[in-house]
Amino acid sequence: MSSSAENPEAAGFKFEVLATDPTGARLGRLTTPHGAVDTPAFMPVGTAATVKGQTQQDLEDLGVQILLSNTYHLYLRPGHELIRKLGGLHKFMSWPGAILTDSGGFQVFSLSELRKVSDEGVTFRSHLDGSEHFLSPEKALEVEIALGADIVMVLDECIEAPSAEARTREAAARTLNWARRSKEYFAQHGDPARQMIFGIVQGGTYGELRRENADALVELDFPGYAIGGLAVGEGHATTCEMAAIAASRLPAERPRYLMGVGKPEQIPDYVALGIDMMDCVLPTRSARHGCLFTAQGRLLIKNAQYIRDERPIDESCGCAVCRRYSRAYLRHLYASGEFLATILNTHHNIYFYLDIMRKIRDAIRFGKLEKFRTDLQARLK
Ligand SMILES: [Zn+2]
Repeated sequence: MSSSAENPEAAGFKFEVLATDPTGARLGRLTTPHGAVDTPAFMPVGTAATVKGQTQQDLEDLGVQILLSNTYHLYLRPGHELIRKLGGLHKFMSWPGAILTDSGGFQVFSLSELRKVSDEGVTFRSHLDGSEHFLSPEKALEVEIALGADIVMVLDECIEAPSAEARTREAAARTLNWARRSKEYFAQHGDPARQMIFGIVQGGTYGELRRENADALVELDFPGYAIGGLAVGEGHATTCEMAAIAASRLPAERPRYLMGVGKPEQIPDYVALGIDMMDCVLPTRSARHGCLFTAQGRLLIKNAQYIRDERPIDESCGCAVCRRYSRAYLRHLYASGEFLATILNTHHNIYFYLDIMRKIRDAIRFGKLEKFRTDLQARLK
């Protein structure tokens, strides 16, 4: 999608690659109906239409341009029809920036009980009240269209890791078939000026399968592509190897999203493979457990060594928390189980991630990603 004229299907959207780095990393900009997203971008996770512990104003102040929200959770509670009637997810949660919704597949396969998968879709029980539901590729998109996120994902079959090759091949084939049906459903019921639909490359840890799956998916001609089923315990080198194979088959002019990554020191590795978008619960979930990311590595705020420590979390961090509060105070809040601990810890961790992304984009602009990566990994490992 270098321009809307070349791809009228995606009239409300534009993806531009502005610079490339010798590593293969891309500096880009994704234009959406809810503002531009500078890429490579990290998307904080707002599972139930909220990034836990942060107000929408906080997120704006942090410079968040795009959030991820979970279709599975919103479908079960409060329900997509209610959100649609209240004007869609942006209006409901009062978020002016871009939103991406997943298909719900990952949660159905990881959280819910009594899953029965067929070519038609997947039957599952709600983790909230045990009620039975059926999710098909068409149903997932019906829900995502009602929610109205800028980017919507197709339903994919997420399998246990590791899985044997035959099982992985079967799931990848089913995912491809679901992608075809999703594209058809979106062509009939979706609005390409309002929402952009991404296909998902599967194939587990089998390189040939990843290659075949990516090639077949590209034939379906999605405006953007995700790489799924990675960072699920296979080891970082394998994650990179599989992501590299998939990314190498995807069209250069379309955005690429690596789902569910990653650790701060790994992010430059993914970016170097030509990945434009990422999401991960790590900064927010870790914050709630008192694990704070700093330029010198992780800091566990509960530790007794911080009881009298008057320094900020990270002396090189410019976030509102580091400018105001001491480790001693944050340690006290955490040890006392105060709400404010989660709020402040989350704020710092999101700032830390977004700051890495800003520095990565600057590094790509000057063709210096390799140096940035080496320096970052030397400090954080
Ligand atoms: Zn900070």
